[in-house]
Amino acid sequence: MSDGVHDPLRPSWLCDTCGEPWPCKSAKLYILNPYMATSISISLLVWDRFEQAAEDMPDTPAADLYDRMILWTRTWRMRNSIRPEEQPAD
Ligand SMILES: [Zn+2]
Repeated sequence: MSDGVHDPLRPSWLCDTCGEPWPCKSAKLYILNPYMATSISISLLVWDRFEQAAEDMPDTPAADLYDRMILWTRTWRMRNSIRPEEQPAD
């Protein structure tokens, strides 16, 4: 049931549109869309997906899932110099 927005298929966590491991390049661009995303909304979304993926793929090391689901957003944040007040509190 692909609607062209590159959502993950569960429990495989492959993209429903292009078949790449989710988040694929298009999904990342969608998540980072400046018209819909704030730093906090991105964090909440990828953390939610991380928890779902951990439930679906219990044999995958959490560190691997963290790198795949969350770490790329931190790299993006550093590249785009999000102001400190926009960073979620740790
Ligand atoms: Zn895709």
